Amino acid sequence: MDILEAKKIWSEVKAELRETIPTHAYYTWIDTMEAAGFEYNTFSLITVHALGVQILRQNYYAKMSEAFKKIIGKEVEITITYDDDLAKEYEQQKRREKKREDKKPVSMIQEETPESKAMENLAQMQSFANLNLKYKFENFVVGENSRFAHALAYSVAQNPAKKYNPLFIYGGSGLGKTHLMQAIGHYIIFNNPKLKVRYVKTEEYVTDFINSINPMKKTSGKSKKSPDAEFRDKYRNIDVLLMDDIQFLESKTQTMNAVFHTFDDLLNKNKQIVITSDRLPKDIPTLPDRLRTRFEMGIVTDITPPDFETRVAILKNLADQISLNADFSVFEYIANNFVSNVRELEGAFNKVTAYADIEQTEVTLEFVKKVLNCESVKKEISIENVAKVTADYFGVSIAEFQSSARSQKISNARHVAVFLSREITEKSFENIAEFFNKKHTTMLYSYEKIKDELKVKKELEKSVREIKSLLKG
Ligand code: ADP
Ligand code: MG
Repeated sequence: MDILEAKKIWSEVKAELRETIPTHAYYTWIDTMEAAGFEYNTFSLITVHALGVQILRQNYYAKMSEAFKKIIGKEVEITITYDDDLAKEYEQQKRREKKREDKKPVSMIQEETPESKAMENLAQMQSFANLNLKYKFENFVVGENSRFAHALAYSVAQNPAKKYNPLFIYGGSGLGKTHLMQAIGHYIIFNNPKLKVRYVKTEEYVTDFINSINPMKKTSGKSKKSPDAEFRDKYRNIDVLLMDDIQFLESKTQTMNAVFHTFDDLLNKNKQIVITSDRLPKDIPTLPDRLRTRFEMGIVTDITPPDFETRVAILKNLADQISLNADFSVFEYIANNFVSNVRELEGAFNKVTAYADIEQTEVTLEFVKKVLNCESVKKEISIENVAKVTADYFGVSIAEFQSSARSQKISNARHVAVFLSREITEKSFENIAEFFNKKHTTMLYSYEKIKDELKVKKELEKSVREIKSLLKG
């Protein structure tokens, strides 16, 4: 079929899709596509977004297919390809439009196009939801360590409050929990703009709750509502609640009650809740049973540290974003030296690229070695390594750790060894309990005890620091 004919069909299909796809999604993904041909019952489209192929296939294929059927009168195959040249042209055109826009008199700039209006709405919703623009599914690299958590998060994003509710994601620091949680928020705002999404750090929730019950704060400036009503409004009048780092609640009994009521209310109204934590619900001491049961009612999943391939993939993804071409050895070197925390892995990458930028130099292996100055490849630290170094430090033995000896010297050293095992190895309390030949609850007790004492005992803080440096040195 001649291309003009194909273009004509596409513009009719677009008009159809304009009715069925949310405005901002339509203008971003659909309106920017071009018809490339219609042969042998296959309609070819070109997208100008590198991620377009995946996003369109996953989210809009069914709607597109339906629209084609309506216009042409039969089912067609749709192929979508990304075209670099067209993408460049599109970027240039956007830039030209922006220049024209900048030259317009102020009165004209205010003029609203459906696209600008949609973008503005989206920005407003994102700021209401409190989300970081970087934390989207598109930027999340899925590895074996996060495959299940990612699949569940994606499913919740597509069908909020339908299947997995609450979704509870746990794992060590810097492994992508916040990223994944916020990705759910972005996805919902983008594809389901009527739903109200709210992301909140548990610390912020606690502060809001304390303010809401503070009699000195009866009126809060702008609003005429009581602080209590304001609090409720903020956390109950929403469709999706994303609550980050719930372990922060720990022993805050009153706030736990408030959380329970918030969750209860939302779940009764069939609203979606997503929670993250650095450990399992049952490992948060003092968490009341009824709250724990609520968490466990939905689905609980973990994220573990990424393996080597995933670390390299994460680095490559970062490199792609800034169009950096570097030798594999560069990625390999960084991936080998930052093994257990994606935040640190990313930090190392950013440091390298920032220095390269300042020094206006290529990112070579030699340069990376100089900047990061990692003497040798870090070894993975096991529970046994931690126990051995801690035992030596305090002048006791691993056998004593594993025995039922309870002298002060052994107990104290054991508490520290347990604490550091958890902090450094990212192993579960079950694994740690197995090594120390103790009950899981005993491990938790040790961990919490040291964590609390570190805040006040200078001497202990110094020992922990020294053991850490022995381990990492
Ligand atoms: P957590 O909440 O588990 O402490 P974050 O979600 O804050 O961790 O992640 C730390 C950093 O690492 C963020 O900048 C995040 O974008 C990045 N990150 C983590 N996991 C991934 C991943 N799988 N793909 C891409 N970036 C990731
Ligand atoms: Mg986080």
